[in-house]
Amino acid sequence: MYFTSRVAAVLLSFLICLATTGLLSLVDNVPPKAYFLVGTLSFSSSFILIYIAFEFLVFREINKIYKLLDRIKRKELKQVKKTLAPTMGPMQKLNDEILLMANKKQDEIEELQKIETYRREFVADISHELKTPLFAAQGFIHTLLDGADHDQTVRDRFLLKAANNLDGLNDMIQELLTLSQLETGMVRMKREIVDLGLLSGEVADALADRAESKQIVLKVDRSPSKPLWVEADKNRIRQVLTNLADNAIKYHQGGGAITISFEAEKDSILVLVRDNGPGIPPEHISRIFDRFYRIEKSRNKDSGGTGLGLAIVKQIVEAHGSRIQVQSKLGKGTQFSFRLKKRKPTELVAASKLVP
Ligand code: ADP
Repeated sequence: MYFTSRVAAVLLSFLICLATTGLLSLVDNVPPKAYFLVGTLSFSSSFILIYIAFEFLVFREINKIYKLLDRIKRKELKQVKKTLAPTMGPMQKLNDEILLMANKKQDEIEELQKIETYRREFVADISHELKTPLFAAQGFIHTLLDGADHDQTVRDRFLLKAANNLDGLNDMIQELLTLSQLETGMVRMKREIVDLGLLSGEVADALADRAESKQIVLKVDRSPSKPLWVEADKNRIRQVLTNLADNAIKYHQGGGAITISFEAEKDSILVLVRDNGPGIPPEHISRIFDRFYRIEKSRNKDSGGTGLGLAIVKQIVEAHGSRIQVQSKLGKGTQFSFRLKKRKPTELVAASKLVP
């Protein structure tokens, strides 16, 4: 039998009616009319009271919760919040708990959907990126096999092109491996004490020829007599500075300036890599740190890279407990920045060594 508030009220009122008339029978000389009157009165008043109490305080609230659970079962989680009516008393807590659970589930579902889209895009991107150089190398080798090898210069040119494409493929796979090791936390950052000014100078020296070939002045804004000691993994931060400065050169139209500078803060040093190149369109800013993301117009073989450089930068900077930030104005230039913890050269960090 479906147990409604009405059935419950009838049963309980009947019991109360029995009890009151039973009690009445203990009194002497009660006329039968009085039994009838007391029985009817106690039954009807108990029925009204119990019915109202059940209907409004218990069943209605339970029904609301049932409806909620039903929606959750049917995965209409977005509707849950909208339809949730305020409840009273102890039911409120239960309702809140269900709402919390539904919201958590909704967030989880959205997160999984995001990951799934990301995974699909990643597979499509990686297939495309691997296919391009592989097909090119395959094309050159097959052309040679098909008889273009009688001319020594043509043969050397084709072999060189095939080798370049395979080298590019190798670089990309190395970068992908580095990235996945960083993302899974397989590589730990070393805790060395490093002179950031000196390290930046080394990076600028290594890129000087490339900058010069585009008439770009690449300078490090530091005073050599004042070392900038920070706690960092030297080689990883070298990679960060190299990727940022290399991008600044790569995407620069030529004839400009790139500066690596520093700002001392209370506990950290802010590192800034600034260029006066073409800038990044605002609609691309939020995506440039994604794997394989490249701005469409830079997707040409001469200037574009693998699209992994900034993803690696982000991972390394985050592994140092900081965040990579970017500010850019179209036609004016771009500035990337991040922070590293300040250290004194005498400070002995566990398992660290002093790197001059
Ligand atoms: P890539 O290997 O293609 O250089 P990155 O991850 O290093 O990939 O960079 C992603 C995209 O961000 C690049 O395709 C480029 O369009 C843009 N970008 C990065 N640095 C700069 C910069 N300094 N100036 C302008 N655009 C930049």
